[in-house]
Amino acid sequence: MAITTGIPVNELRSRFRGALITPEDERYEAAAAVWNGSIRRRPALVARCTGTADVIAAVGFARRHDLLVAVRGGGHNIAGNATCDDGLVIDLSGLRTVRVDPVSRRAYVDPGCVWGDVDNETQTFGLAVPGGIVSTTGVAGFTLGGGFGHLTRRFGFASDNLVGADVVTADARFLHASATENEDLFWAIRGGGGNFGVVTAFEFRLHEAGPEVLGGLIFHPAERAPSLLRFLRDYLPSSSEELTVFTIMRKAPAAAFVPAQFHGQPVIANLVVHSGDPTQAERDLDPLRTFAEPLVDLVGRRPYTAVQALTDASWAPGFENYWKSDYVVGIPEGAIDVLTEHLATITSPLSDFKIAYLGGAAARLSDDSALSHRNLCFLLNINTRWPLGTASAAHKEWTRSLFEGMKPFSEGKVYVNFLMDEGQDRVRAAYGPEKYERLVAIKRRYDPDNVFRLNQNVKP
Ligand SMILES: Cc1cc2nc3c(=O)[nH]c(=O)nc-3n(C[C@H](O)[C@H](O)[C@H](O)COP(=O)(O)OP(=O)(O)OC[C@H]3O[C@@H](n4cnc5c(N)ncnc54)[C@H](O)[C@@H]3O)c2cc1C
Repeated sequence: MAITTGIPVNELRSRFRGALITPEDERYEAAAAVWNGSIRRRPALVARCTGTADVIAAVGFARRHDLLVAVRGGGHNIAGNATCDDGLVIDLSGLRTVRVDPVSRRAYVDPGCVWGDVDNETQTFGLAVPGGIVSTTGVAGFTLGGGFGHLTRRFGFASDNLVGADVVTADARFLHASATENEDLFWAIRGGGGNFGVVTAFEFRLHEAGPEVLGGLIFHPAERAPSLLRFLRDYLPSSSEELTVFTIMRKAPAAAFVPAQFHGQPVIANLVVHSGDPTQAERDLDPLRTFAEPLVDLVGRRPYTAVQALTDASWAPGFENYWKSDYVVGIPEGAIDVLTEHLATITSPLSDFKIAYLGGAAARLSDDSALSHRNLCFLLNINTRWPLGTASAAHKEWTRSLFEGMKPFSEGKVYVNFLMDEGQDRVRAAYGPEKYERLVAIKRRYDPDNVFRLNQNVKP
């Protein structure tokens, strides 16, 4: 049982260098909050680590006093497990150094980094790791759950590019995990999330990409959704792996780049990024750009770092969020009906739902890690969002209706990083029976008491 009151903070203070933030501290509200404003939890203590020594001290302290432990990287996870009620938050968000070795093509990344930190350093050398499509998302939780973005069809998931990691385990031991050291732990942390310990350093393999890419958004009116979705399902499977297309359905923002008569109206947009040769990129993108006259075509050559931050403004913290997601087996006619019907009835101008097209290297690379379902190419993600503290019922109902409507087109396989608190069957569905059982065996070895349980939990 976790102790909920009377944590002997002074005991930790004697061996902890960073800030120890308790409810009476003026920094507490910000330190307790995570990206998803719907999560409102009150930890007893937030321990802001300044390095691995602090992490070891915090884990040891939590064990001695039987405290509930949450681990925070970028704080972006929709489920909000980076904070907790009454327990200890091991907060890594202050650790944000990235070191690049351009000769060996490696990046050494601290556990509080967000993708903007990594891109900023690696792009100086024309190099990149496949990161997320919003630059403020944390590297740690993202990579531990797999992690895909605009370079995934070329270079795989972020976890496919993890070469090694430093891990503080549940018994406060420091280990290195790689293909040659603690191989079972290395297998597990590439997809198995935060179940196995606190990762204090990530080493990534880098690839040549950028510093400029062809990318941007192409908006079409909602009436075109059926024909565009039909076009995409035929076009994407044979498209270049240097091209990524995320198809976004939402209400058009009241932005200067959208014709005024469409502000607030449902639209369908392709967020496209081509990271290959500039002439080839124009050629590869041509079918998407000429398929029909768009409302507006904002695609152009841009710095990769700009493309990575293109939609950041739509995803600021401080809003309520509710997500549902599943891999879908394709976009058959029945799915098109469900998607277009829900595009017409979307309840919030802040929400969207999108289909990410993966495949390519994501499907082809070695399957020897906990990351699952890499052969599935179409990933549906419903991102419902509304202002903090306002009524939620209609938004949640719309989300569930769309998710249920799409169920016939899914085999119930899910991407772990998009799960909310949805029960143990959904955690199993993120891995499939074989990988789940292997994760359980590794969990028993590294965390038999389930100290790290605030996550998509693999029960020991
Ligand atoms: C706006 C937005 C955009 C996104 N875009 C993408 C995308 O393009 N592609 C994609 O794949 N995903 C995307 N995601 C999902 C993202 O992968 C997850 O939310 C991920 O968990 C974020 O990692 P984090 O470090 O920010 O999260 P946190 O909330 O800090 O951590 C999530 C969990 O990971 C574990 N954890 C975190 N740090 C550590 C650590 N150092 N050691 C051990 N365990 C740790 C903990 O269990 C924690 O609860 C997006 C999310 C948001 C909100």
